[in-house]
Amino acid sequence: MKIQNYINGKFENPINGEFIDNYNPSNGEVYGQIANSTSEDVEKAYEAAAKAFPSWSNTTLEERSKILSKIANLIVEKLDILAEAESKDNGKPISLAKQIDIPRAAENFQFYANAITQFSSEAHESIGLNAINFTLRQPIGVVGCISPWNLPLYLFTWKIAPAIAAGNCVVAKPSEVTPMTAYLLSEILNEAGLPKGVLNIVHGLGTSTGQAIVEHPNIKAISFTGGTKTGAHIARIAAPMFKKLSLELGGKNPNIIFSDCDYDKMLATTIRTSFANQGQICLCGSRIFVEAQIYERFKRDFIKEVKKLKVGHPSKRKTAIGALVSKEHLEKIESFVAIAENEGARILCGGLEVTVPGFENGYYFQPTVIEVTDNSCRVNQEEIFGPIVSIMPFKTDAEALQLANDTKYGLSATLWTNNLNRTMQFSKQLQTGIVWVNTWMLRDLRTPFGGKKASGIGREGGFEALRFFTEPKNICIHYE
Ligand code: NAD
Repeated sequence: MKIQNYINGKFENPINGEFIDNYNPSNGEVYGQIANSTSEDVEKAYEAAAKAFPSWSNTTLEERSKILSKIANLIVEKLDILAEAESKDNGKPISLAKQIDIPRAAENFQFYANAITQFSSEAHESIGLNAINFTLRQPIGVVGCISPWNLPLYLFTWKIAPAIAAGNCVVAKPSEVTPMTAYLLSEILNEAGLPKGVLNIVHGLGTSTGQAIVEHPNIKAISFTGGTKTGAHIARIAAPMFKKLSLELGGKNPNIIFSDCDYDKMLATTIRTSFANQGQICLCGSRIFVEAQIYERFKRDFIKEVKKLKVGHPSKRKTAIGALVSKEHLEKIESFVAIAENEGARILCGGLEVTVPGFENGYYFQPTVIEVTDNSCRVNQEEIFGPIVSIMPFKTDAEALQLANDTKYGLSATLWTNNLNRTMQFSKQLQTGIVWVNTWMLRDLRTPFGGKKASGIGREGGFEALRFFTEPKNICIHYE
């Protein structure tokens, strides 16, 4: 299976003819090849996008909306094929891909099909000066969208849908670790009648293909989701070129549990916040802080539930934890268990690789709970991005808040309490872009999404993304 670039509505080999291996994480085998594109391919994609822009940016909102809806419908029609492909490429349980990843990719297109018809700009009447100002929100031109491997189609489309809805043309790159569903999306784009060149998908490594997108002088905005280190690198290249940047980066999210919470709901949700998608969601709560008076009870109950999670092949119905995305990632996860032990932390459960019969070379790891005593340890300060969480008790609200904020990251926080005053105090004082109270990952696509501190700059979602993908221009008209 060869994954080609999709440029100007056509599938093409990269200009250098080179391909790189694509692995199936559930068995460790190479099952396909992906284009190893260079700046020449990015240039070709850019040219196609630039050529399509004058017409696409003048296409009526109704027409754009119709095409986006059609893409959404086709994703729903092909749910099974896309979910199987996502699971095979990423290692996630197929049930998760069917329930979350692929439906959400369709929702992303449907949401922006609707949102663009409701997007408006302001007018300011300068009273007494005989002038009226109005703001045009114009598409930027050709924009770059770069996405990670953890929620491949879900996050790829989360950028592309608002970008094209707003009238831009796009050069996009999915992660080289999980390119398959972006490739399948290319076929859908043709079927939906998206004009050629509006969306071009170039495959390849971050350091070559991705970087060529960021370095391209005429790609005027970059929407990036990925690691903090990569985000900083991209910012260093893009800033002197005055590119518009949206950076959705890493997290080390606190999950703060007070004794006055709805305990059963909290326990069931904390299993998900910790281990959904093998813990490879930027919103996972990897640092669990528990009020001292329920700490021992929580520890006992949580470990009992974690031990029930079945690690297995992603296609099996009973699998709760599938394969990790790559061998390198498995090794990184494993190294954190040794780091924790060296730091004097206690491994309460898990901590080992799992051999799944019949799939011995797959990348499986036990869900792992580590008890830490000091929030400054590496396990609590560095993003692990896998099935490892730490737990630690706290005594007072002030201490919980201090621990939660004591990290360079600031993506999201989860709070479990039924106390309204505490809810408000924490909501105001947590240094994160998102706060979940008595829930987790309940997503309303109209809301702003993004992080503070080292978790990024800018917000996606709702009209925020349409604002990002448009440039405001004020027009001031004086009349007599
Ligand atoms: P990554 O930074 O390695 O790669 C992300 C994307 O950037 C890939 O497509 C990659 O090819 C590309 N890339 C890599 N180097 C590049 C360069 N020099 N120039 C341009 N592009 C480059 O991240 P990853 O390992 O794929 O994803 C995991 C990370 O993503 C985690 O840190 C996670 O927290 C983060 N993430 C954040 C969010 C969020 O919304 N904040 C969501 C999901 C994942």
